[in-house]
Amino acid sequence: MDDLRLRFPNEPEYLQAVEEVVTSIEEVYNEYPAFERMNLMERLCMPDRIISFRVSWVDDHGRVRNNMGYRVQHNNAIGPYKGGIRFHSSVNLSILKFLAFEQTFKNALTTLAMGGAKGGSDFSPRGKSDMEVMRFCQAFVNELWRNIGPDMDVPAGDIGVGGREVGYMFGWYKKMTREFSGTFTGKGLDFGGSLMRPEATGYGNVYFLLNMLATKGIDLAGKRVAVSGAGNVALYTAEKLIRLGAKVVSLSDSDGSLIIPDGLTAEQFGQVFELKTSYRGRLSELADEDWCEYHPGKRPWQLVKADIAMPSATQNELDGDDARALLAQGCIAVSEGANMPSTPEAVHEFLNAKILYAPGKASNAGGVSVSGLEMAQNSQRLSWTAEEVDEKLKGIMADIHAQCMRYGKEADGFCNYVRGANTAGFMKVARAMMAQGIV
Ligand code: NDP
Repeated sequence: MDDLRLRFPNEPEYLQAVEEVVTSIEEVYNEYPAFERMNLMERLCMPDRIISFRVSWVDDHGRVRNNMGYRVQHNNAIGPYKGGIRFHSSVNLSILKFLAFEQTFKNALTTLAMGGAKGGSDFSPRGKSDMEVMRFCQAFVNELWRNIGPDMDVPAGDIGVGGREVGYMFGWYKKMTREFSGTFTGKGLDFGGSLMRPEATGYGNVYFLLNMLATKGIDLAGKRVAVSGAGNVALYTAEKLIRLGAKVVSLSDSDGSLIIPDGLTAEQFGQVFELKTSYRGRLSELADEDWCEYHPGKRPWQLVKADIAMPSATQNELDGDDARALLAQGCIAVSEGANMPSTPEAVHEFLNAKILYAPGKASNAGGVSVSGLEMAQNSQRLSWTAEEVDEKLKGIMADIHAQCMRYGKEADGFCNYVRGANTAGFMKVARAMMAQGIV
């Protein structure tokens, strides 16, 4: 860690993600002296390669605009590079390196053959017209297309990149390569997309939560669940929770939080879903509704009593004070939808309190798992039904849960899911790297 801090002093998110993994796998790493002889940990911490480029595009007023674009190809020991693309003004190399690092372990947990990568740009689709987004996506892929491919690197969506953006990027990739291939996942259903991909991360997180609750014999129905975010992951998490009889007591976006003291009804959820998906509206537009309270500039964790928290917006959105407030109100479980939403201090609080705490690399792996299933369907030129995909998703989440239990269960019965997920993911990648020599 000291060496990495010296080499990459301006990359706090990357250092945070690496430190969490190396500290939790230290014990098992030291059991295999051959790993150290091959300097395996250092190789695994540094991305295989980083591609960075300028993206120039023309806005609706004829002005030339410039953004930075990146693809971090972290590790392909167990399969082609795989991971989403993020378009958000906050994107920088530190964030993409942390996401690509995490993705490597997450993908190893899914049981599918996928390496880890992440990409993106500091371009924000917010407030841009469809044509501006299309021109940006085309300019982005114009730079990236030589470095991706169905057996090389398969990007998908992430923050700011949904079906619209994936469609535009896929279209331009097809034009450049003159091939129709499964290079992007999260595609539209009419051109190779998989049923259930939009739902997969949110539903998968709820399935993981159900697996955790089952170890304690706790029923989800009637539980108050605080969810953050109001994007792809948060909305499908909320939808599944409501269907299973839980009370969704919060949602949020980058401007503030919506608190629903009695829990969202299916009808109210429909209103939020329409607002967010049909015209990309803001939660503040619901401030005058009598079933909710809107808190500008606030995160939900200290505003509402919740039995369960499912942070599903962005990294470091739940800090030590938030964690202590949740625990003081009797929170029994935290299942992360976002990547690294809890700060190290918050994680420490959850582990100390010995509640059910699932790190994103385990609990949000449903999205990339169904992306892996989309790749399999594309290779076979077949489409599976929603029921088939959902069943496979449930099976994968149960399998990830079992791997966490295998490596994370302690003598007193408590499961440290952080250690479990990191160790299981690490061992798979490490074995493959050892077998392949120094490459
Ligand atoms: P979306 O862009 O669909 O939604 C993101 C949500 O989070 C929006 O409500 C957004 O608000 C809010 N948000 C984004 N940045 C911030 C911020 N800095 N502060 C507060 N709120 C913020 O993204 P997704 O739902 O796809 O992704 C959410 C998280 O889940 C990310 O961490 C992502 O990496 C992770 N994830 C996503 C997967 C997927 O399949 N999509 C798979 C696995 C993990 P606003 O609209 O105001 O910007």
